[in-house]
Amino acid sequence: MKYFPAFLRLEGRSVVLVGAGDVGRRRAEQLLDCGARLSVIDPSPAGPVREAARAGRLTLVERPFRTGDLDGAVLVFVATDDPEVNRSVWTEARAREVPINVADDPSKCDFIVPALVERGDLTVAISTAGRSPALASRLRRRFSAMLGSEIGSYIAVLDGARQRLKDTGLDFEQKKRVMYRLIDSDLQQLVRESNREAIEHRIETVIRQASSDLVDRESRGCVYIVGAGPGDPGLITVRGLECLRSADVVLHDRLVDPRLLEAAPDDAEVVDVGKRLGKQEGLQELIHDSMVGHARRGKIVCRLKGGDPFVFGRGGEEARALTEADIPFEIVPGVTSATAAPGAAGIPVTHRGSAHAFMVMTGSRANHAPQEEWTGAASLIAGGGTLVVLMGLAHLPMIVQRLEAAGCDPRTPAAVVSRGTLHDQDVRVGRLEDIRVRADGVVSPATVVFGNVVLERDRLEELRASVLRRGK
Ligand code: SAH
Repeated sequence: MKYFPAFLRLEGRSVVLVGAGDVGRRRAEQLLDCGARLSVIDPSPAGPVREAARAGRLTLVERPFRTGDLDGAVLVFVATDDPEVNRSVWTEARAREVPINVADDPSKCDFIVPALVERGDLTVAISTAGRSPALASRLRRRFSAMLGSEIGSYIAVLDGARQRLKDTGLDFEQKKRVMYRLIDSDLQQLVRESNREAIEHRIETVIRQASSDLVDRESRGCVYIVGAGPGDPGLITVRGLECLRSADVVLHDRLVDPRLLEAAPDDAEVVDVGKRLGKQEGLQELIHDSMVGHARRGKIVCRLKGGDPFVFGRGGEEARALTEADIPFEIVPGVTSATAAPGAAGIPVTHRGSAHAFMVMTGSRANHAPQEEWTGAASLIAGGGTLVVLMGLAHLPMIVQRLEAAGCDPRTPAAVVSRGTLHDQDVRVGRLEDIRVRADGVVSPATVVFGNVVLERDRLEELRASVLRRGK
């Protein structure tokens, strides 16, 4: 590590700033905020610095820098655009061994000033060791958005909980566990909602659980039914990720990307229910029992499902089971592959002037569903609409047969999008009559699309190529 990270306490300490232009003025404000005893040296300082001097907040020396100006200083900042001045201040600081920072000249910096995210008592300092201030600044923006505006109040709530722990008789390790548990819970969300009662209840329960280490009927856990998105781990929602991060137990489907599971807490129990429980009879009931069981033991359960939980995900049944068991739960919708897989392949499921409606069907019933279901789909396509079929790859020949029997034009554009949104996404385009052949060798999961919107893919691809060419 090139720089030692530390937060300095400057209250009442003597700090010298040479140069009070724009950069210097901002630095002066920060130093005054920290309570530093500030001397500013500049022959023609910016207006606000003059005003601060008049108000007695700092000492202003309105002349060029001279040897001896650093007397008694514990820290020196230089923010002039004159390399000569910078050099002479730096030489003197060096001779006196006072740490110095020269703006925009890393070679003359004993310390650097990080990019900051500040929310109440929270400060996140970001440094790239001076190598890319632009990246530091952008990261600052990202962290800032990630932390949420409630973080100041959240810290106050956590501090309150920490004070309360003092009288509980818990030992250091137990207290630490309580604090981590609170932070990993939905407490921040409750603070965001200003839900005082729920905040109080959450803190009470976690402390009580730690004190008794017993199963407490009152302290039921909860279940988040979360949509993980279509494939790429970046396509989960912000809320979904938050729930995953706060889980004690994660019950996920096979389709969920392993990279996403890394977001679960280190000590969370992560169960692939698809794999663990297999394709046995009554699997769904076993999942219900597992969710209910964990929640009754006071656990926060994240039921993580591919795409959207309510699109061929049996999320509705799970929600019903939780209602019947009187377990609190929240539905966190996800990005469904029904629209995302075609979308990632450049196929908009609706398109102005082309398709005004789209329909999502399961292909798994192709062998036994009544023919009327396919007649409806065929007339939708004939009217210019789009048919999206999930779970259709294995039954593709039967699906084609059903649509043809329902009078669907064999020339209807068709596409198969395999592993949509993932790095090995594979798109095959054809017509109803030849899509089976074109989809040869494609792997699951795959989404099948029928309708004129498939033709948009070529137009979009062409446009995209020309935009990229122009960009070069
Ligand atoms: N609830 C999920 C769908 C579950 S059914 C959702 O909303 O996306 C599973 C089917 O979804 C698969 O058979 C396939 O048709 C489709 N699917 C899931 N992930 C996919 C992906 N990455 N690319 C294409 N299709 C996908």
